[in-house]
Amino acid sequence: MQKFGGSSLADPSGILRAAQRIAKTRENGYQVVAVVSAMGDTTDELYDLAADVSPRPRPSDLDALLSTGELVSSALLAIALADLGQAPVTFTGSMAGLITDDVHGKAQITDVRPDRIRTCLARGEVPIVAGFQGRTKKGKKITTLGRGGSDLTAVALAAALGAGICEIYTDVDGVYTADPRIVPRARKIGVLSSEVMLEFAASGCKVLHLRCVEYARRFGIPIHVRSSFVPELGTLILPGLDRHPFRKPVKEQPVVTGVGGVNSAAKVIVIGVPDTPDSMARLFQVLSHSGVNVQTIVQNAADSGSRRSDVALIVPATQAAPALAVLDAAQGTIGFQGLQHDGEVGRVSITGVGMRSSPDVFCTFLWTLSEAGIDLDLVEISETYVAAITRSERLEDAERAVRLAFGVARAAEETARSRSRPDKHLDVDGDVRWGHGLRGLTASPASRGR
Ligand code: ASP
Ligand code: MG
Repeated sequence: MQKFGGSSLADPSGILRAAQRIAKTRENGYQVVAVVSAMGDTTDELYDLAADVSPRPRPSDLDALLSTGELVSSALLAIALADLGQAPVTFTGSMAGLITDDVHGKAQITDVRPDRIRTCLARGEVPIVAGFQGRTKKGKKITTLGRGGSDLTAVALAAALGAGICEIYTDVDGVYTADPRIVPRARKIGVLSSEVMLEFAASGCKVLHLRCVEYARRFGIPIHVRSSFVPELGTLILPGLDRHPFRKPVKEQPVVTGVGGVNSAAKVIVIGVPDTPDSMARLFQVLSHSGVNVQTIVQNAADSGSRRSDVALIVPATQAAPALAVLDAAQGTIGFQGLQHDGEVGRVSITGVGMRSSPDVFCTFLWTLSEAGIDLDLVEISETYVAAITRSERLEDAERAVRLAFGVARAAEETARSRSRPDKHLDVDGDVRWGHGLRGLTASPASRGR
């Protein structure tokens, strides 16, 4: 399986480079299935086009539009590959057998039936699949999997076809210990477990889509993230590596392997939730039906007098408005007293292994932030990460302090005042990514609800 990202296919020379890569792999005796993203910023441009035509396009129409970007790439790649003597066959997501639910814009894969791809492979042909899209089971309507979703297409097909490896060709040459744009001396990691990669992805490393890493881990698919511009090996992400017998026991490994920061979250506070056994369940039912991905939940102890408590939710910033809207509509049935939107918040985290069993790591993290004068909103700890929520504007300071404290970046002083390059990715499906200033963010001022 070889997946080529948008930046690898941004122009004709990128298409030719990808074609040569596929042809070379074929010449080495391997079968190849290629999955492609839309060229360069095509998906963003399609979004903008839709916005120019209507302020509120229907999600199903938007999917029909967005899915075309990948079709262009797959056809062009086929044209280039045919010239190299191969027999490419183009596939839409639907033809490739990617069946999804009907949540347009962020559909989940429910089934993969790649029969036509198998037939194609058996004939010695090269299937080229448009990533990021599928179709609903009943209505056969086109769906998209959420921004960055073609990684997921590749891993899902790799799993269904029993591929030996899923290579993700991109514009970086691997996974780094920290964002190399912010930390000049961040190191490239050679091999890493899916478990740790999952935490990296969740704490802001955007090299791989979070859902793609989850999927790969669940189905045991090894991923190789590598550059489409240079031939060198990138980073191998192996499922179950932490349990592999040839590895030293986990405790002997350096505990902290990365520091991340994400600035694209928002806090929603549900005030005065009745202290009944079902109110939390009702609350999350409403949210889950609306497709909002809650990243963190904190519930205050109920006030013994009022028998009510406040529940704070951290959601991707782009989902704050929909979360507020559905909660507002359900206020009557759930019976809470009000809603508060705390605008943008930042999440600084360290990732590694054995966090829970290393209280000193946790302590150092908290002391470091307190010495840097960072106010913490809430703190999370798991076996593989420790994270704190803080104000957006303090995130960079927090990250820098934590990196210094854990020696993840000896060169923190060189930190190039973070040329905060706008991120082309919209974060609609809760996978948080490196980088600040996500497009399309509506940073509404803190607004007190009723
Ligand atoms: N073209 C889609 C996007 O930009 C999917 C992808 O790149 O993976 O989100
Ligand atoms: Mg991508």
